[in-house]
Amino acid sequence: MDRVLLLRFGELYLKGKNRNIFEGKLISNIKQSLAGEEFSFHSTFGRYIISGYNQEREGEIIRKLKCVFGLYSLSPAVEVDATKEEIENEVRKIRIEPKSFKVNVKRADKNFPIPSMEFAAYLGGVILENNKCEVDLYNPQVEVNVDIRMNGRAYIYFEKIACQGGLPLGTAGKGLLLLSGGIDSPVAGYLVAKRGLEIEALHFHSYPYTSERAKEKVISLAEKLTAYCGKIRLHTISFTKVQEEIHKHCAPEYMITIMRRIMMRIAERICKANNLGAIITGESLGQVASQTMQSMTVTGGVIESLPVFRPCIAMDKEEIMAVARNIDTYETSILPYEDCCTVFLPKFPVIKPTIEKAEKEERRLDLEKLIEEAMATEEILMI
Ligand code: ATP
Ligand code: MG
Repeated sequence: MDRVLLLRFGELYLKGKNRNIFEGKLISNIKQSLAGEEFSFHSTFGRYIISGYNQEREGEIIRKLKCVFGLYSLSPAVEVDATKEEIENEVRKIRIEPKSFKVNVKRADKNFPIPSMEFAAYLGGVILENNKCEVDLYNPQVEVNVDIRMNGRAYIYFEKIACQGGLPLGTAGKGLLLLSGGIDSPVAGYLVAKRGLEIEALHFHSYPYTSERAKEKVISLAEKLTAYCGKIRLHTISFTKVQEEIHKHCAPEYMITIMRRIMMRIAERICKANNLGAIITGESLGQVASQTMQSMTVTGGVIESLPVFRPCIAMDKEEIMAVARNIDTYETSILPYEDCCTVFLPKFPVIKPTIEKAEKEERRLDLEKLIEEAMATEEILMI
């Protein structure tokens, strides 16, 4: 008898020729997430088994595995030989009184001689012999699961702990997350990472208008994201000069539009320089003036050759906040700070900007010089 963790992964993407790539990546991500722990890993016909770990570390190991994209659920289980006697012996040890229960038997290995229903009823009898409890097939307080696998082993477990789902990190390439200090952009990063996209992050600060603390906040948000996204290269760029120039020369209602267009242009250059294939933002339709359909047309319009992913686009703020709480970025995001976008904020930003008007306003700036100067302030932190 061994105490193990039984891991389940999605079946969907494990079809066709991508299967090996996905599975290889998932396995290496699992192993990497447990770096520093003692454990053995086995892959067996549709399940992964983690064994040989320190029982006292089980809670911590589960916590880490729950952050690995591509895993759907896991169960702490007892592993025995898949024979009637061994399974029965183990089931005999179960103490669940005074609760109601149900036994589920699943035979991936149809060579196991007893049909599932029959064996479940038999094991139910064994439990009844040893406990003051009752069978409830419809609403049991405890479920005893017996999973008979193709590897000649059976797994007995009570609970199924939900994991993240999604696709293994790194199977969708790499993108650049525009990371502010707000609630939405960390959620956006998490959501694309969940679809397999690795991320680097880009933050624009307006030091000295924004404080050192605002930057620290972005760093701690990136740190929180690493639980899911692995190591993150954080690029920071000073946006101060750009904002001052726009403030000086452009129509106030177009200030945010022009700022966003310049952020996008810089983001695209950073993508090109670092071989990143997409830009990710935390925009949500209609949330503020700069996130209307027309605004996104005008700001996204400067991007020449990359997709812009906006995974929060159709989410309500409440829904975004719920994800933020789940991934533990919320409390950091709501700390008071100054965003570069709130410096020089116009009273009435345009809600339906046009590309023509934005271009006209931009002609008042030496765009190329501004962008180059901003690019020269780039700093890179490994988080
Ligand atoms: P967030 O909560 O992510 O800050 P928000 O609702 O405050 O979003 P905006 O401030 O309009 O929205 O920003 C929209 C998106 O633009 C952000 O989600 C983020 O991706 C990007 N962004 C905004 N400010 C910055 C910044 N200072 N540095 C990098 N990206 C930014
Ligand atoms: Mg913001």
